[in-house]
Amino acid sequence: MSPTNLLGFTQQELADFAENLGESRYRGKQLFQWLYAKGATSFAAMTDFSKDLRERLTAEYAIDFPTLEMSHRSHQDGTTKFLLALVDGAKIETVLIPPRIAFQNGSASAEEEQRRLTVCISTQVGCPLDCKFCATASMGYIRNLTVGEIVGQVLRAQKTTEKNITNVVFMGMGEPLMNYDNVMKAADIMITGIGIAARRITVSTAGWADRIKQMADEQRKVKLAISLHSANEETRTKLMPIAKRYGLQELISAIEYYYDKTGKRVTYEYIFFEGVNDSSKDVGQFVALARRVPCKINVIPYHSIDFVAPTGLSADLRPSKRMEEIVEELRTHNLTVFVRGSAGEDIDAACGQLAVTMEQKKPTRRHGTLQPHRRTVDRIAL
Ligand code: SAH
Repeated sequence: MSPTNLLGFTQQELADFAENLGESRYRGKQLFQWLYAKGATSFAAMTDFSKDLRERLTAEYAIDFPTLEMSHRSHQDGTTKFLLALVDGAKIETVLIPPRIAFQNGSASAEEEQRRLTVCISTQVGCPLDCKFCATASMGYIRNLTVGEIVGQVLRAQKTTEKNITNVVFMGMGEPLMNYDNVMKAADIMITGIGIAARRITVSTAGWADRIKQMADEQRKVKLAISLHSANEETRTKLMPIAKRYGLQELISAIEYYYDKTGKRVTYEYIFFEGVNDSSKDVGQFVALARRVPCKINVIPYHSIDFVAPTGLSADLRPSKRMEEIVEELRTHNLTVFVRGSAGEDIDAACGQLAVTMEQKKPTRRHGTLQPHRRTVDRIAL
């Protein structure tokens, strides 16, 4: 049996762990600081522990830090994309994004904005949701990430830069709210252990309505973003099959519930596709929806997914030529609209792109017990 991995344990769990070892609970607190505030990758580094304790921990326990398989830095904008390998050989993506480019929600001052360094992290290996514009969809769903694997992405990315990571967005591979417990536990560790402010952590969902309500009930302090992409039921269902399970009405009620309970604005993410969701009628429906609860809008430029050899609707998606015009129109309705910079286009930095591309380049290279990027498609029943 592989040794128990301590990365992912909360402060409480580490205190219990230390007590079970016959140590003081305070040792657990020290372990918590070593793991998350200092990003220790080995017990040997924990110099304020006795040699005996360090040896015992090394012999019996593990810190399963994700390993860096590859990194790509964009010459265009400084975005850096990492391909990380997990203990079972699965590969995930993590992206480090400089200030101008990253997801914005408008709460940062000019000075904060300068210092902002955002990491975009994955929550699943693959994804079951099959959104028609997303590269990760072509991988199917493999598994949820553990708490340690989610937090480990932030810690690994932090090791590549002198600057402090200030913001986290759950916008990499996977649907965060389908891995709810691990995602929320990881976010708590980022807040209490790594020291990232809750208001600088954003969880993005394709619209898993029940979990949105759960976030409200639990008064989660992290921010919530909804990948909307259409306010028209039929169009949204074509683009995002999750809409068959949670229709717009149900999604909107969950968002209203969330706002009532938390008083927090949500952000809607929207990619405008030519002839699909960019007509005046589409914009009108979006405006009507956006007026239901106070919100912000993040318009995302489309990253082509041609490299996954898309078929059907996926093959026909093109970025809308009207994007800027629509943004102006939305603003005339007094809506707060940000246009996200197109990060790392030259390094395949959109969701799922690197992992999928790498698999295509190295079809014979398989590690471990899982074969993470096989194309057996395991979709969620909607
Ligand atoms: N499953 C979650 C989080 C992962 S996707 C969600 O749906 O929100 C993170 C963001 O990237 C979402 O807003 C998604 O719509 C967007 N996205 C996915 N594929 C994209 C592409 N090819 N170009 C631009 N944005 C994309």
